[in-house]
Amino acid sequence: MEQLEYQEGRTELAEFGEFPLIERLTDGFTPCNKSTVKGVGDDCAVIGTGDKLTLVTGDMLVEGVNFDMMYTPLLHLGYKAVAIGISDIAAMNGTPRQVLLNIAVSNRYSVEALEELYAGVRLCCQRYDVDLVGGDLATSRAGMVISVTVVGEADANRITYRSGAKLHDLICVSGDLGSAYSGLLVLEREKVTYKANPDFKPDLDGYDYVLERYLKPEPRMDIVQFLREKDIVPTSMIDVSDGLASELLHICHQSQCGCEVYEERLPIDYQTSRVCSEMSSNMLPVSNALNGGEDYELLFTIGQQDYEKIRDSQEVHIIGHITEKGSPAVMVTPQNTTIELRAQGWQQNG
Ligand code: ADP
Ligand code: MG
Repeated sequence: MEQLEYQEGRTELAEFGEFPLIERLTDGFTPCNKSTVKGVGDDCAVIGTGDKLTLVTGDMLVEGVNFDMMYTPLLHLGYKAVAIGISDIAAMNGTPRQVLLNIAVSNRYSVEALEELYAGVRLCCQRYDVDLVGGDLATSRAGMVISVTVVGEADANRITYRSGAKLHDLICVSGDLGSAYSGLLVLEREKVTYKANPDFKPDLDGYDYVLERYLKPEPRMDIVQFLREKDIVPTSMIDVSDGLASELLHICHQSQCGCEVYEERLPIDYQTSRVCSEMSSNMLPVSNALNGGEDYELLFTIGQQDYEKIRDSQEVHIIGHITEKGSPAVMVTPQNTTIELRAQGWQQNG
């Protein structure tokens, strides 16, 4: 057997961002199968040889890191686990078909609790016409870990990667940004108050939209459908799971271009602004939009020739354009100053 050689020294995980770490770990894995069309580096892996290609994506949800049982209903959690996988299929301009669910649970959970989780899984599967076809169930010593794999398909001539954005393309984003993170902030605030005083009844009135955005995101399959109806193939696309800034940087990096987005064009819901002003006078809604994450909206670029087809849409917002190779990714403020976009660091909890 080949001897495993360990490198000397020890590098702490905290010294690495998520993406440099993935790059480092997967460096040297060159695909050897003709059917591996796209490996690591996009929202899904792309597999196949014909006109219809298969999409595969995996995501993991870890209790205490990605969800908190104090305020996450299991029904919502089951729904969300499937929804975030479907969102990666949408980001490739594809259609979801099957899902596999791997779960590790401690004996803190009852059969009824897991049934509740699966009721959420079923709801999402039904809503997006996806079949649960397998998975695995294991014991965990602490809490719950959910790993979801979604399989989908896409026409080879409509499939959309992160890498195709071209100079002067328009940058579009669906829905609104920052609302899921605002929902999380509200839940965390109520949790702190509850812990200090268990008689306290959380008052969540008026936050329904942001709470739903965080607890029960909807993958934007309606946008994939809209693009098909309008006969638009985006030049690049990604879903917004880590915040707009990080996703724009992925598109720029992989398409080898820069970008310019306009702060006043960023779609932000009034509940998001309200939560920010309640939290602190220096918490800006635009920061939530850039760095909040978990919105699961679609960020994509289109050629200028498609402008007419998209400009009347209520659900798609044109927020900027692609600039030439070598230029930075920037946001232009209403005062006409430019701010270079940076991805927020990956939080390695625990
Ligand atoms: P997304 O946010 O779209 O789910 P990620 O940021 O999780 O994507 O991952 C970026 C890319 O890196 C994807 O192509 C994913 O398949 C790949 N990837 C993530 N984690 C690993 C890992 N542990 N080993 C190999 N590839 C990984
Ligand atoms: Mg993604």
